Amino acid sequence: MSKIRSFKGGMHPEYDGKELTDSCCVIEAPLLEKYYVVLAENAGRPPKPCVAAGDKVRKYQLIAEADGFVSADLHAPTSGTVEGIVDVPGPMGGSVQAVVIVSDGNDHGSAPFDCWEKWQEKSGAELLERIRKAGIVGMGGAAFPSHVKLAVPPGKKVDTLIINGAECEPYLTADHRLMAEYPQKVITGAAVMGKLLDVSNIIIGVEDNKPDAVAALEMASAGTSVRVQLLEVRYPQGAEKQLIYAVTGRSVPPGGLPFDAGCVVQNAGSAAAVSDAVLQGIPLIERIVTVSGEAVRSPGNFKLRIGTPVIEAVKLAGGITEEPGKLILGGPMMGFAQRSFDVPIAKNTSGILLLPPKAALNFSSSPCIRCGRCVEVCPMKLMPCLLCASIEGGRFDLALKDHVMDCLECGACAYVCPSRRPLVQQFRRAKSELRKKR
Ligand code: SF4
Ligand code: SF4
Repeated sequence: MSKIRSFKGGMHPEYDGKELTDSCCVIEAPLLEKYYVVLAENAGRPPKPCVAAGDKVRKYQLIAEADGFVSADLHAPTSGTVEGIVDVPGPMGGSVQAVVIVSDGNDHGSAPFDCWEKWQEKSGAELLERIRKAGIVGMGGAAFPSHVKLAVPPGKKVDTLIINGAECEPYLTADHRLMAEYPQKVITGAAVMGKLLDVSNIIIGVEDNKPDAVAALEMASAGTSVRVQLLEVRYPQGAEKQLIYAVTGRSVPPGGLPFDAGCVVQNAGSAAAVSDAVLQGIPLIERIVTVSGEAVRSPGNFKLRIGTPVIEAVKLAGGITEEPGKLILGGPMMGFAQRSFDVPIAKNTSGILLLPPKAALNFSSSPCIRCGRCVEVCPMKLMPCLLCASIEGGRFDLALKDHVMDCLECGACAYVCPSRRPLVQQFRRAKSELRKKR
């Protein structure tokens, strides 16, 4: 086992809430009466529906087609009838459209693609096309289509594939349980993508707080070209640029992509989905989700179908112990606060958090005392205090010059700020304004 590696900056919260669920084995959710498959869950263009109200669908059937290269197909999570296409609360905010499928209770459907047990005999182009057709996206965050991240642009040379098993966000343990209970899928998916990219350097980065997952991955990877790299428990270890630095010592240039450091990064969940798509011939219709927080009666990890309303997931976890002060999809640092329990889960929903009112208090901010803590923790080596002052003074030009566009919105600076400055809100505002001007 190689020595533990890390990046510069960052921090670790005093309490990370992982012990609520890190030993909870994955529980498969029973079939629901209705699923709401949202049409805006990938980072690119929303897919176009190819079914209409009244259509009968089978499990795994294509229900919405990718609209262009940076977009991903969507498939039916079960068999039944399309009730219609309606507006629902979006997992990443606002209102989005969703295909509503009323289950027929049979869950009928066969794998739409051939099972490739001898995937090693397939070409890189064939494997890439299978990943595209299976609608696989980055399952750890932005839901960027995996086939796009795996298509190396002309002129770029990639020699390393990194599988992101860091799961550094507090409370989340979905990837932890995936790697501990389904290590073979993660290793096979990694090997498939390694073959596709024609790289032999395939590394799974895992934070050092998941010993059972590390042991399972070590065992499953024995005799393969995939190796496990231990990472320090430090937030945001799983941010792409920080992970690349920790694993390879290479820096992605400002404004650059992992390709610029010779790397491709894929989430552990996406790797498992690639294994399913190639070996079993099935598209991505379900994922593991951590349902946790102090307001949940029985926190746990659940295998949920895409389109499951949050209210159903909370019922599986025993309901609530008190009226939550905050509902978040994702982790508490980078997740999206929600107003409604009707919001459905998407391919990138790693967690459902219900925090009690005392954990969701709104603190008033006070003036900056120039303590420099935000500068110490910023993993992008930015000056959050100065950026915030520029933005508050309306000087977006100065914020741009000081690289606000490189901000990951990781929230580490806001977490340590004793004056509780609204740093991330200001950076999001400035980035949005600057994008509009472009
Ligand atoms: S939110 Fe942005 S400025 Fe703050 S620590 Fe993270 S990357 Fe740095
Ligand atoms: S941590 Fe807060 S108070 Fe300290 S320098 Fe940064 S913005 Fe100012």
